[in-house]
Amino acid sequence: MALRNLVVVLGDQLDAGSAAFDGFDPEQDAVWMAEVEEESTKVWCSKPRIALFLSAMRHFRDELRQRGWTVLYQELQPGSLVGQLRMDASRHRPKKVIAVEAGEWTVRQQLSDIEGIEWREDRHFLCSRAEFAAHARGRKQLRMEFFYREMRKRHGVLMDGAQPAGGEWNFDQENRKSFGKEGPPLRLPPRRFAPDALTREVIQLVNERFAEHPGDLQEFDWPVTAAQAEEALQDFVEARLPQFGEWQDAMWTGEPWLFHARLSAALNLKLLGPAKVIARAEEAWRQGRAPLAAVEGFIRQILGWREYVRGIYWQSMPEYAERNALGADQALPEFYWTGKTSMVCLREAIGQTLRFGYAHHIQRLMVTGLYALLLGVRPREVHEWYLAVYVDAVEWVELPNTLGMSQYADGGVMASKPYAASGKYIQRMSNYCRGCRFRPDESTGPRACPFTTLYWDFLLRHEAELGRNPRMVMQVRNLSRLSPEQRAAIQSRASEVRAGAIG
Ligand SMILES: Cc1cc2nc3c(=O)[nH]c(=O)nc-3n(C[C@H](O)[C@H](O)[C@H](O)COP(=O)(O)OP(=O)(O)OC[C@H]3O[C@@H](n4cnc5c(N)ncnc54)[C@H](O)[C@@H]3O)c2cc1C
Ligand code: SF4
Repeated sequence: MALRNLVVVLGDQLDAGSAAFDGFDPEQDAVWMAEVEEESTKVWCSKPRIALFLSAMRHFRDELRQRGWTVLYQELQPGSLVGQLRMDASRHRPKKVIAVEAGEWTVRQQLSDIEGIEWREDRHFLCSRAEFAAHARGRKQLRMEFFYREMRKRHGVLMDGAQPAGGEWNFDQENRKSFGKEGPPLRLPPRRFAPDALTREVIQLVNERFAEHPGDLQEFDWPVTAAQAEEALQDFVEARLPQFGEWQDAMWTGEPWLFHARLSAALNLKLLGPAKVIARAEEAWRQGRAPLAAVEGFIRQILGWREYVRGIYWQSMPEYAERNALGADQALPEFYWTGKTSMVCLREAIGQTLRFGYAHHIQRLMVTGLYALLLGVRPREVHEWYLAVYVDAVEWVELPNTLGMSQYADGGVMASKPYAASGKYIQRMSNYCRGCRFRPDESTGPRACPFTTLYWDFLLRHEAELGRNPRMVMQVRNLSRLSPEQRAAIQSRASEVRAGAIG
């Protein structure tokens, strides 16, 4: 048949309701999908991330084929996406190539070279790029909270008329507790999805072709289809949403999931739409199945943070990826790729990351991210690690979270101050320190916690610039309590930590 439209579907665009399919005619059009090695090697992608993408893509391909659609699908090929597309387009000679906006700036640029490509808007998101640009216009500073309130009003989410439900926009004071000595309360384990034959095939392929890559696949159980993502959503809303807010920031040894949704990967691959997730959470509150504080805290992550970071990404790329406001110049410690460290908090967070491709937000921000910030690791290396190891990692969401929120490398676009803290924060929010050979309240001496040493060293190194930030004044002022001898001892131990002699 003479091909009319070739509809490009990228690995994170697995949405049957996507604008790419508007007007799709199976008699004249075909879908194009490709697995290319470059996507797994441009950063040192973990096995769970590669397996999730390939498995979800193959399941989506089969679903489209079951509808009787033609899907031109390349299983794992060497080379690049655009090279493969060019080759297939010249072979099949479609009249037009259609694609939904790519989620990554570089891919968007590369695909733009395809002659006559027609771009369509990504309807998955609740704030278009143009709407975010309008929100940003004329503002000196972009802050998530104001954006989130606008989104609540625009989409009528958790609103009672013109007022926020419950009279407040934010219930943080009721959320974010730590577990205390007894540890997390009893809860049902999250719904797992045992690999089917197609996923098992992918797992074998990844183990063979990417044997040297980090992570392992023995416990791979992520949802890989829209139907499974729907089940995962139901399971979360019923079993964990009611306590989500309360324990949102808490961490516990051997407990990777706690009360978190585990929905980010399904959302980012577009197996699940954010509007549906938000509606289900709001419904649970309106029907009395979950408290408002938990539901508001959860919805803020999706309607607020998720849309906001996407807006920042597209407003600021490509120069955003190069930013390094604090002049960080250290290499990422090798143990980020192995988990081999005697610091229990890092061992736990990195260990579960390699095992499952997952860590929750506070583990990413206040354990792995915090350590890299305090150590002064080059932001690009930190970014490449986060992009490589998490199953939900896609650049539009990963980059602002890593470079902006966790490393303060954008100089304050994402966060109004660096998320700098000592080991005492980790001690308060987890039980990690109880099993650790270091002491979170000691900054010098043989048992000093590397986080605490580096925290003071970070303040000393950046005293002048941080002192100008009104939100850091209190923290910086504490430096005046240190004697010259204490300063020297902290700096000397920090040099040892930096040299890899401790930790
Ligand atoms: C350094 C760093 C890197 C990160 N990289 C990614 C990434 O590559 N991909 C990604 O999806 N999230 C990323 N996040 C945000 C967040 O950590 C994950 O979305 C969350 O941990 C996913 O787990 P969950 O589905 O159980 O989320 P929950 O904690 O249950 O939250 C519910 C949902 O809210 C959304 N969400 C929560 N926080 C954020 C946030 N800060 N930005 C955007 N969406 C958010 C996610 O879609 C998530 O599924 C990163 C955070 C940090 C600090
Ligand atoms: S003492 Fe320091 S290194 Fe050890 S677990 Fe606590 S914060 Fe982490």
